[in-house]
Amino acid sequence: MIDIKSMNQAEITALLAELGEPAFRAKQVFRWLHQGADSFEKMSNLSKPLREKLAERCSLRPPVVERRQISREDGTVKYLWRLGDGNCIETVLMRYHHGNTVCISSQVGCRMGCAFCASTLGGKVRDLTAGEMLDQVLFTQLDSGLPVSNIVLMGIGEPLDNFDNVLRFLELVNSPEGMNIGMRHISLSTCGLTEKIDKLAEYQLQLTLSVSLHAPDDETRSRLMPVNRSVGVDRLFACCRRYFERTGRRISYEYAMVDGVNDADWQADLLASRLRGMPGHVNLIPLNHVAESPLKPSRRTAAFQKRLESHGITATVRRKLGGDIDASCGQLRRKRMLEEEGRQTETPQ
Ligand code: SAH
Repeated sequence: MIDIKSMNQAEITALLAELGEPAFRAKQVFRWLHQGADSFEKMSNLSKPLREKLAERCSLRPPVVERRQISREDGTVKYLWRLGDGNCIETVLMRYHHGNTVCISSQVGCRMGCAFCASTLGGKVRDLTAGEMLDQVLFTQLDSGLPVSNIVLMGIGEPLDNFDNVLRFLELVNSPEGMNIGMRHISLSTCGLTEKIDKLAEYQLQLTLSVSLHAPDDETRSRLMPVNRSVGVDRLFACCRRYFERTGRRISYEYAMVDGVNDADWQADLLASRLRGMPGHVNLIPLNHVAESPLKPSRRTAAFQKRLESHGITATVRRKLGGDIDASCGQLRRKRMLEEEGRQTETPQ
């Protein structure tokens, strides 16, 4: 079956040409898909034979809400979606003054193995298609009734490990005939796959690149993030410098504060010296405690921030949203997987 939801307008035009249809039909189909039509049957301005031909050839399986949690504290909404093949992923809708932001997943699970992260505990199952990423934005907007103005690729998965599909997703969600979300309203977060960051730089997109740094020294970073064992902090920063030179876009560095691991003054000093002369911004994140991990949230976040600022580095502390609903990604899917495993072992033979 053809994955029509992941196709751009040119591809849909070619598909419809094969079916003997004119180009303007492709625009109509594209619009329906990007308004969240969940069947071809509903595309009422297409002829019945065309709707039937499309339904025969193309799959259209929107995600189903498996669970929806709404934070009483701040209105954050967390979705656990069931995909067409039975896998589950998470999307979080955050309500900021500057607009509603959705945090989407890019893979089912993750293979990066970061020590503090719930998403990687069961490894990677598969990449998400561009259409499945788009559907998270689209159906979160439709289900919540809240218009989405910003997107962050910071949910389950490593977006640059699913490069082509993520690039297609960006093209689709940015499309004027679709959701028309501007690149400057999109952030992409990566654990630091340098070859892929170099490749992304070639496209000169106006999105914000966030690099999950979490430590300025190799020993600590390799302990927290296995990806560092093959790249190293020196090469990562050299890559970030190239990215900035090529795109002119300031990078944002994410730094989850872990008690007694990456929160010492000397680490703030080292981070500042590595960032010198390169415009960037440090986002300090209060660690979300994951039950399977011995790592604890730091109590030195304010002191670390001050120390960075004393070196002239801009650092902000991320406001925690949805604390009452396990809103950091990976936790809800993990819970559901454990419940399902439990259910299977309990089933009488
Ligand atoms: N794979 C990508 C995007 C997904 S993770 C990446 O590594 O950037 C999104 C952000 O959440 C990353 O900065 C990640 O390091 C951070 N994160 C993961 N688990 C966390 C936790 N338990 N507490 C705080 N931040 C966490």
